This record gives sequence, C-alpha cells and structure tokens, in this order.
Amino acid sequence: MSHSRFNAIDIVLNRTDFDLDIQTLAESDNISSFYGKNVFNDASMQKYLDEDSYLSIKAKIQSGENLTIDLADIVANAMKKWAMDKGATHYAHWFQPLTGKTAEKHDSFFTLDHEGLPIEEFKGEGLAQQEPDGSSFPGGGLRSTFEARGYTAWDPSSPAFILEVGDGKTLCIPTIFVTYGGDALDHKLPLLKSQSYLENAAIPVCKLFDPKVEKVITTLGWEQEYFLVDEALYHARPDLMLTGRTLLGKHSPKGQQLDDHYFGSIPERVYAYMRDLETECHKLGIPVRTRHNEVGPGQYELAPMFEEVNVAVDHNQLLMDLMDRIARRHRMRVLLHEKPFAGVNGSGKHNNWSMATDTGKNLLSPGENPGKNLRFLTFFVNTIKAVHEYADLLRASVASASNDHRLGANEAPPAIISVYIGSALTKILNQIEEGKSVDEDAVTRVLDLLSKIPNLELDNTDRNRTSPFAFTGNKFEIRMVGSSHSCAKPMTVMNTIVGHQLKAFYKEAQELMGQGMDQAGALLTIIKRYISEFKNILFEGDGYSDEWKVEAERRGLSNTPNTPDALTSYVSDKVKTLFNDSGVLNMNELEAHYEVMVENYILSVQIESRTLGEMCINWVLPAAIQYQNVVADNIIKLKDLGMSESSYTAQMDILNRISTNINEIKIRVAKMTEERKNANALETAIEQAHAYCKNVRPLMDDIRIYADRLEYLVDDKQWPFVKYRELMFVR
Ligand code: ADP
Ligand code: MG
Repeated sequence: MSHSRFNAIDIVLNRTDFDLDIQTLAESDNISSFYGKNVFNDASMQKYLDEDSYLSIKAKIQSGENLTIDLADIVANAMKKWAMDKGATHYAHWFQPLTGKTAEKHDSFFTLDHEGLPIEEFKGEGLAQQEPDGSSFPGGGLRSTFEARGYTAWDPSSPAFILEVGDGKTLCIPTIFVTYGGDALDHKLPLLKSQSYLENAAIPVCKLFDPKVEKVITTLGWEQEYFLVDEALYHARPDLMLTGRTLLGKHSPKGQQLDDHYFGSIPERVYAYMRDLETECHKLGIPVRTRHNEVGPGQYELAPMFEEVNVAVDHNQLLMDLMDRIARRHRMRVLLHEKPFAGVNGSGKHNNWSMATDTGKNLLSPGENPGKNLRFLTFFVNTIKAVHEYADLLRASVASASNDHRLGANEAPPAIISVYIGSALTKILNQIEEGKSVDEDAVTRVLDLLSKIPNLELDNTDRNRTSPFAFTGNKFEIRMVGSSHSCAKPMTVMNTIVGHQLKAFYKEAQELMGQGMDQAGALLTIIKRYISEFKNILFEGDGYSDEWKVEAERRGLSNTPNTPDALTSYVSDKVKTLFNDSGVLNMNELEAHYEVMVENYILSVQIESRTLGEMCINWVLPAAIQYQNVVADNIIKLKDLGMSESSYTAQMDILNRISTNINEIKIRVAKMTEERKNANALETAIEQAHAYCKNVRPLMDDIRIYADRLEYLVDDKQWPFVKYRELMFVR
C-alpha cells in the first residue's frame, strides 16, 4: 500500500490505532521477574534435565566438545518439553547468512509415527542438524546451484529461545550455516573460530601474570542507533520503502541545529515503543539497559550490558528483527539505515570490545594496583599494534554502500582509522617510549608511574567523540560500525588481528626471556618498540577536521571513503595470510565474503539509482510540469489583460528556473541509466562496483540537487513526497 502525501499526514494526525498503554507484562512490573523467561537458560536446563545430563551438557558447552547423539536426544527432548510448556508448536534453526540478516526455517514438533498416529517429537538429530533449502542465500562462489545444499548445525554456546510472533511461538535454535563441504556460509562460524583463536593466543600471555587463567573470552557491548517514522509517512516515500533512505528531499529549515532532540524528553508514542521493545528483549534475555534520544530528530539509541561476543552478536541480530516487528505493532517503521536523511545525523552501532578471563579480570582494565598494570599495558598495547597493522582490514569490515554516507561525512568517524587513548594514557605511553633503558630501575619507574593513573574507568570525561577507535576507560569502542550491520564481521576481525598480534608478542617475549632477560624487562622492551611503531596511529584531535585529513596523509594512514576501494584489502596477500594462518576463514570463505560484499554494494546502488530514476520521471517531473502550466497560464492571462511585461517578471523567472531544473534532471536520469548499463556490462564484479561508485553515485547526488530545487519552487500543495519537516516533526 502506498499513500499520497496529504493522505499520509492526515492519517498520522488522526491516528488512534496504536496503543500507548502497552502493558509491560501482566505478571509484574519487575523486570527481573520475567527476564529470560523465553530462553532455555541455565535455570530451565536444570529444571528440565536430570542432574547427570545437566552436568554433562554444561561440561560439553564449557569445553566445546561434540555431543554424543544420546545426550543430544536428551537435550532435544528437554527443550521440546520446555518449549511446549510455553506454547511453542514449531522449532527452527536460526542462522545468519551472509546477507547480514537472520534466517529461520520452521518445522513442527508434530509428526506422524510409524503407525500413522500423530505425535509431538523432537530428536537429537533435529536439534543438531538441519538442511534448509538455502540455495538462494548469497554464498559468493561457495556453492554452485547443482550442489546448493547448505546445512545448519547447533551452536550450544548460544542459548535457544522462543520467538513469539502474534500468537505463534517457535523454539529457535542458534546455528551455524555451512556448505556440504563444511565451508562457512554465515557470520557465526568465523566469529566462533576467531574467538577461540584469540583465546588460544591470549591464555599463554595471561599466564605470564596469573597461572590460574584457563579461559579468555571477548566481550561486546553494542549501542544501537535508529530512527522511527510513522508508517503512513513511510508508505508515502517510495525511497524509504525500497532503499531505507530518502534519495531526495530538501532540508527542513529546522533540523537538528538547536540540538533540542539530543537526550530530550522521549515522545510518548516512542516511549511506548521503547517499553514494548525492551520487554520483548528482556523476555529473550537481551540485557538492554539504556535508552535515549539521539541527535537527529526522530533518532534514538538502545544499549545493553555487554556479554560474551557470540551471544552479544546473536542478541543484536535478534534485536534488529524485534525492532522492526514491534515498530509495526505501533504503526511505525524503524529505519536502521546509516543515513536515512541528508543533513541529519546518521546512525551507527558502536561496538565496545574487550577481553576477560575466567578469573574475572577485564584485560583492558587499567585497575588500581600498579603491580598488575603490566598486564593491562600488554593487552592495551597489543590491541593498538594490531589495529595499526590491520587498519585497512578493520575499515573493510565495516564497508557498505549505506555506511559510505556516514564515514568521513563530518558527523561520524572519518574513513581514516586512528586510535584515541586519552591524555593520561598518551602520557604514559610517551614516557615508556622515552624510557632510557629497560633495566630494573626503568621498569620500576614505569610501574611507579602507572600507580598515578587516576581511576580511568570512572574518569572518562575527556572522551573524544570524533575518533573511530577509542579507548573508553576499560574497553575499546569501535565507532565505524554501521547501524544496520551485523557486529559479527568487525568482531571477527578484531579477535583475529589481536589474536595474531598476541601470538607474535608471546613468541618474542619467550625469546627475550630465553636470552636471560627477566619477564617485566622483556615485556617492556617489546611494548616500548611497539609504541614507537604504532605511534602515528594515535590521534587525540578533531577527527572531523580537514587538517586531520592532511595530517593523516602525511603520517601515511590510509583514507578510503568508498566501499569498493576499502574492500580490496579483504583480498590482499597480507589479509589472506592472516585468515589462513589463523584458520578463521579459509581462502574459499574469504573470497565468498568479499564477493558478497562487492555484490551487495552493486545491488544497493543499483536499486537506489533505479528508484531515484522512477521518482523523478513518475512524480517529480509531472509535479513540476503541472505547476509550470499554472505559472504559464498566469503569464498568458496577464498578457491578455494587457499588463506590462514587468508585472510578470517574477513568474517568468520561476518558469525559467522550473524549466532549467526539469531539463537538468531529465538529462541526468538518462545519463544515469546509461551509466548503469555500462557498469552492468563490465566483466568483473569489482569493476562494476567501481563504476557504480564513480559514475552512477555522483549522478544521483546531482539529480538530488535539481529535484530539491524543484521542491522549493513548486507549490507545496502539488509536491508529491512527504517533506523532511513532515518526516521529522509530524507526530
Ligand atoms: P557510552 O559510550 O554511550 O558513553 P558506556 O561507555 O557507558 O556508554 O557503555 C557503552 C557500552 O559499553 C555498553 O553496552 C556497555 O555494556 C559496554 N561495555 C562496558 N564495559 C565493557 C567491556 N568490558 N567489554 C565490552 N563492552 C563493555
Ligand atoms: Mg559509546
């Protein structure tokens, strides 16, 4: 269904068909009383499994060992019982294909037994493995259609949950998605591999400080930004419906200049949405805690407590799905696009990343005890070193057509990767670097100095919001990730590069100690060298400024504002070696990831460009011509009445300007179609992507300028598309 502009505004202004009184949960207002009620968590496992089975499944999950089919049968049966007690009729393997979204295939518990009698059944086989007909999911070159089979396999490290859609309830089992040959067709398997790669690299380093460490996990706390628009307005904009962003639209005289939306009071209708969303999240064990208005009018943010990275990624994927579904319940649409409105802040998804041990230590916590801080320094410095070494890969991991509008557009971090660590830590790194020699004395001096670090975890006041990669107290915050992205890719990259780096560090430390150097001296020697090697990536200034672009170039840091350029680093020899040596992605998988990203870029720009063409030819030009007729009629009438030419100079001027803009649009839409054809005719996908980037996209920007001029010239009553002011302020 689509609406005309005024019809849509009417609907919004007279809306009564949404519920402001969303009841949180009938049972109680107390979140802890229903938190995780739809998750097959530890408590449900204990309740539905006998003690022996419970203990063995727990042990298997901890160790990552394979389950025996007997145990899988027992667990499946318990899950089925639990799910059916909650009203579920179906189960689904829930997975994350390379589209970056989630997918599920439902099967009922109901089946017929060998005598044809109806029963409810869920076996270990069904839990462990399924074969969805996934041949239409992007797989790069991994599957040709004749062997298009893909398999999903249970990931016991992320708990199963019940998804409620209307009255339907489905038991969802988080799974990986692989080809017949075992290549990953999803984001989860590489993420799991990267996590264990980092763990293996980090444990020996941890043991230098505490022999009791047996397990290291990476932690992720994401912050999800989004826009909300009324569903009627959304349906009055073909561009929002088809591309998730506005392809044209003159800026509203009042936008975000007054900063009156940021952290402002939350509109009642939005508040109802947020509460509803949070309740659904809590039932699913997604520990969301923070909500507020963001900078753009109609922009908001939601953030949870951090979790182990695999679960946190699943939770964010699930959240994006819930956000969309619940918005519809409130007659709204959620926009997860990185840049729905030109001239208004875009949306990102900060990924707060750290590492933690089974002894309860956050490895990036500076702490208060200076004697322990060498451990902090080790992990801190190795992380920065890894980012310095693989900045291009990190940039590539967040590349997409939609995120290109954000990165480097003076509102979000630039496309140049730099690291912000704050003045206190900068000072410390400088002093370590300048330390004369790392004899006993120097070590003591450095460690003394560390004791002077104020309590950094609390003292975050001098955070720099313009940095793409910032140390914020006890974690690194990766700010380049786009709001619509899966966190899996940047997290996989972080784990892999830091794991790789820690291995190199440990090897060198062993060598130095083998030569008789004491441990602290050896570690500091390496740390000191690293600091001087990565120093040029540290930047504390304004990342949005033009001076930084010049300065960054002088420092030799790369600046790749567009996706096709950024993606080339995915298939560089250095990155191939990294993924191959770490075992996180084999060469087929890496190639597939790359191909899917290139393909997504082409398709996104292609769809946008076609949509823009249609909007111009079918709506903008007819509206302009209609108004042109009105003005022309007026001039003829004035002439007929014998009025002097000077009495219709304004009309003539308007007429001329309308004609000019119509022509400019017409010419460029034709040229844009031509350029698309040229691009499509190119041999390789990456050539096509470059052509879309260099030849199609600039034309879209040009067309917008002329269309927006027409919006300004044409009678408001005749303008077909909901205007920016209405999208942002009609509620
Ligand atoms: P903001 O960046 O908006 O100021 P905070 O810094 O308070 O917000 O927290 C942002 C996110 O960082 C939250 O999701 C929080 O859970 C997460 N976070 C805090 N500590 C860690 C950690 N050790 N590892 C990963 N994420 C963390
Ligand atoms: Mg943040």
